[in-house]
Order: sequence, then structure tokens, then C-alpha cells
Amino acid sequence: MITAYHRPKTLDEALTLLTQPNVIPLGGGTLLSHPTPDSVEVVDLQSLSLDTVKKQGNNLEIGATVTLQQLLESEHCPAALKSALKLEAPLNLRNAATVAGTLVSCDGRSTFATVMLALDAKLEIKSIDKFELVEMETESRPPKQNVTTLGIGEFLPLRLDQVQGKLITSITLPLNVKLAFDHVSRTPADKPLICAALAQWNSGRTRLILGGYGKSPLLAMDGTEAEGLETAARNAYHEATDEWASAEYRMDVAATLAKRCSERL
Ligand SMILES: Cc1cc2nc3c(=O)[nH]c(=O)nc-3n(C[C@H](O)[C@H](O)[C@H](O)COP(=O)(O)OP(=O)(O)OC[C@H]3O[C@@H](n4cnc5c(N)ncnc54)[C@H](O)[C@@H]3O)c2cc1C
Repeated sequence: MITAYHRPKTLDEALTLLTQPNVIPLGGGTLLSHPTPDSVEVVDLQSLSLDTVKKQGNNLEIGATVTLQQLLESEHCPAALKSALKLEAPLNLRNAATVAGTLVSCDGRSTFATVMLALDAKLEIKSIDKFELVEMETESRPPKQNVTTLGIGEFLPLRLDQVQGKLITSITLPLNVKLAFDHVSRTPADKPLICAALAQWNSGRTRLILGGYGKSPLLAMDGTEAEGLETAARNAYHEATDEWASAEYRMDVAATLAKRCSERL
């Protein structure tokens, strides 16, 4: 249950509010608006101007409150990422859900997180220490912000700890990589039973990620060449049984999707 609503106008104000217990960021609110037994205060991020998509050299910098639909409509969004975004959620949800909120709350079936993990996207995370608030008041100056950059691979497994009292402010992905995405689901618009995203850098670095199972998408391979992709895909899903599909099925389909992605690059 949301017990208080804050709409700060500056990042300093937002980060100061987040130093308090039980105060959490509100992105699009598609998840936070669901009734829960826990009492939380929310910090609405919509007035912080974190909603731009900017091309910076070979990178795309996506503000934390950019919606999934806004990213999908960006001229700089890679085609494979657009396909993944269309599967992440239907249009009404894409219009509200933010990129940061989606990464914080996603599970292994998230097509968006699968592609972001293949691209080895980086998250910028900001916070203010509590003791800093005391010092800044005595010294009458603005608070110093802590800024951390975290690879999405480090972020996803421990994400609730990573954002405790903190704010994701932007997500950066490389544009100078080849990217392919494919999936299998019960119907074309369903969340996938299995999906694969493959990214390849000019250096030959190749990352294969599988989605469709578990708490997070899974890194199947991060190597210097595309050899052994199908075997890596099979091995990664050897225990991936749930109510939607057996591990045997997922292993076969993952290998096929990896092959298809590789042929597309
Ligand atoms: C009808 C419906 C169906 C849905 N179906 C699915 C589904 O099938 N699969 C699925 O995974 N999800 C589903 N969801 C959940 C929802 O779509 C996603 O979780 C959504 O993308 C969250 O984005 P948001 O911006 O709305 O996040 P919010 O609801 O605003 O926040 C979600 C979490 O992220 C945190 N957060 C938000 N922004 C930041 C930030 N900048 N920094 C740090 N933390 C932040 C919040 O504190 C909160 O913990 C569904 C939701 C609805 C309403």
C-alpha cells in the first residue's frame, strides 16, 4: 500500500528522500500500483528530466524514466531490441512502464532484459549517504552524490540490494555491435518460452543470452568468437524445467535459436 507520494523536482531532493526507510522510486507505477500488504512511500521520478534517449558517439544513453514505448520509437533503437520490446509488454503497459522499473522488476522471461544483457548494458546508479546529509546542512552546501556504474550482469542477480536507497538514473548500451534476437512462444505475441539474444563486437567478442526461464535471463556464452554457440545454449538450459516447458525442450530450442541468431549476424 502506498502511504505517501512525493514528486521531487531535483535529483538531490529525490536522493535525499530515498535515504529514508521504506521510501522507494516510482517509475511508471505499473507494478507499484498493485495492492500489497507492505506500506511504502513513493518518490515519483517524472519531474526529474530523466526521460531522454541520446546517442553519444557509439553509445545510446537511455534515461531511467524513458518508457518502453519511447525507446521502441527511438530512431536509434536497434531493430533486434525493438522486436524484444514489442514482446515485453502490450502497448498500454509499454506506454507507462519505464526502462529502469522494468529491469528492477523483471524475471527470466523478460525479452528486454535478455537483449540488454546481451549488449552488456551499463547502469548508472546514484545515491546520497545519510551522514552526508548532516554534513551538508552544517556546511550549507548541496549534498555530494555517489555515482556508480554497474554492468547489468552484476546488477540483475542482486538487484533489490543494489537499488536499496538508490536510484538508477540512466542505462547505456553500445550501438557499434551486431545484434540478433529470436524467440519461441505459444502465440506470436506471448512472452517467450525461450528467447535468445546474440551480440557481437568488432573485436570478435560474442555474448549469447537466453531468456524465458527463471528469475533472470542467463548468460550462456561470453567469448572471443562464435564457436560452440549451440553447445553453450544447450548446456545453459540443462535444468530449465518449469510449468511452461521441459529442460529437454528448452535445450533443443535454445540451440536452434542460437544458430538462427548466429546466421543473422
Ligand atoms: C496488467 C499488468 C501485467 C503485467 N505483466 C507482467 C509480466 O507478465 N511480466 C513481468 O515481468 N511484469 C509484468 N508486469 C509488471 C510491469 O509491467 C513491469 O514490472 C514494469 O515494466 C515495471 O516498470 P514501471 O516503470 O512501471 O515500474 P514501477 O512499478 O514504477 O516500479 C517497479 C520497481 O522498480 C523500482 N524502480 C523504478 N524505477 C527505478 C529507478 N529509476 N531506480 C531504481 N528503482 C526503480 C521501483 O521502486 C519498484 O520496486 C505487469 C504489470 C501489469 C499492470
